[in-house]
Amino acid sequence: MDFPVKTLWGHGGNSLPRRYETPQMHVSLTLFLDCPISTKKTVGVSKKSKDVDVRNALVEWYEEHALERLTEKTNRYAGIMGVSPNSISVRDYKSRWGSCSSKGEISYNWRIIIAPHHIVDYVVVHELCHMQHPNHSPAYWKSVKREVSDYEISRQWLKVHADELVV
Ligand SMILES: [Zn+2]
Repeated sequence: MDFPVKTLWGHGGNSLPRRYETPQMHVSLTLFLDCPISTKKTVGVSKKSKDVDVRNALVEWYEEHALERLTEKTNRYAGIMGVSPNSISVRDYKSRWGSCSSKGEISYNWRIIIAPHHIVDYVVVHELCHMQHPNHSPAYWKSVKREVSDYEISRQWLKVHADELVV
């Protein structure tokens, strides 16, 4: 079968991300991600869809998936750390992975879920620790390290691979 293939980064568990082939079929676009929550989802793309429509459908799917995944991870880590965020949302940030307001409103860049699980975990912990320390002081990094002992590796990974986390 001959169809155009779009290559996406997917989750590779604890390893570096693996590439997934996403067949762009004529009537639907089926996405496969190797993750526990959603493994397969078909988003509506019509016969006449242009590249931009396909991209929009992908972005919509990622945003929805990102909120589900990030809410689950945030609640899990918040429970461990004994903090309670007031809200969790995803946004289309251009140059940041997340933010935490003084009111405990946490927002993430949806693109982060294209990264491997342990990188996503680091970003979640990074924002939750801001509920205890609204800065990047040594005490702040100490609490990050308590939850993610090798956080420096994830920080570095994000610097190197940031440009690859795109749809
Ligand atoms: Zn920060």
